[in-house]
Amino acid sequence: MQLIHCPWCGPREEVEFHYGGQADIAYPERPAELSDQEWAEYVFYRDNPKGTFAERWSHSAGCRRWFNAVRDTHTYRFLSTAKPRQKEVRV
Ligand SMILES: [Zn+2]
Repeated sequence: MQLIHCPWCGPREEVEFHYGGQADIAYPERPAELSDQEWAEYVFYRDNPKGTFAERWSHSAGCRRWFNAVRDTHTYRFLSTAKPRQKEVRV
């Protein structure tokens, strides 16, 4: 069990959080022009690195807010968390 630093609530047990997938996935500028393959890539295809990965997390059993995190997928250790559009890094 590890503590995850919610940008609003501070450190809490990881069971209070919910994983939300890869961070910084931009909605298509012209969605009506996408092919089926391009839609499939937008909806389903995600990076799967071994190492540092930018993710979205929700403090689902706390303030229920979403935030960004950088996590090492090899060790599961959180390297930083931040409010959306916030550049400040907290661990
Ligand atoms: Zn929170």
